[in-house]
Amino acid sequence: MNRPKKRTELCVSTAQKFLEAYESHKGALVPPIPVVDLASWLGFQVVYLSLVEDDFSALVSTREKLIGINSRHHRRRQRFSICHELAHILLHHPPESRCSVREIEVYNAEADECAAEILMPTRLIKRWLEQTQNPFELARVFDVSEQAMTRKLISLGFFGGLVRDTLVGWDVLGNET
Ligand SMILES: [Zn+2]
Repeated sequence: MNRPKKRTELCVSTAQKFLEAYESHKGALVPPIPVVDLASWLGFQVVYLSLVEDDFSALVSTREKLIGINSRHHRRRQRFSICHELAHILLHHPPESRCSVREIEVYNAEADECAAEILMPTRLIKRWLEQTQNPFELARVFDVSEQAMTRKLISLGFFGGLVRDTLVGWDVLGNET
């Protein structure tokens, strides 16, 4: 999806400002990023929902200050989903009921970019890359899916074509799971 670079930068800088504010109150962050604590610091309670469809990931109610997460999803997917909902809050996106299909698509893409920076802050990733360049090990350290970590590393321009082709072969470049 082609969107203005400015919007992408805004998504990343919004995540970075949020993390800086959190750190100034709670101390320096180390991986894995404490996503539930980030939510409660923002005043939101995370609730785990079991009576939802399998393809349901998460929702946020800004009025009730609740983030609902599918309790049956893998923990790493839940962590990304919590950050995705935090991103909608931080980016001041309107509720989906007031959006067109196209707007929902754009806002979800923005929330994913912001969420990736919350869950895998560029600053911390770069520090860890000095210790290991193995995406699977980095995924373990940050407690994120291998897909999410690989995508983040590619967005940082880390992988050349050869490594990327290898990873495609390993089927870790699919959609977020
Ligand atoms: Zn969303």
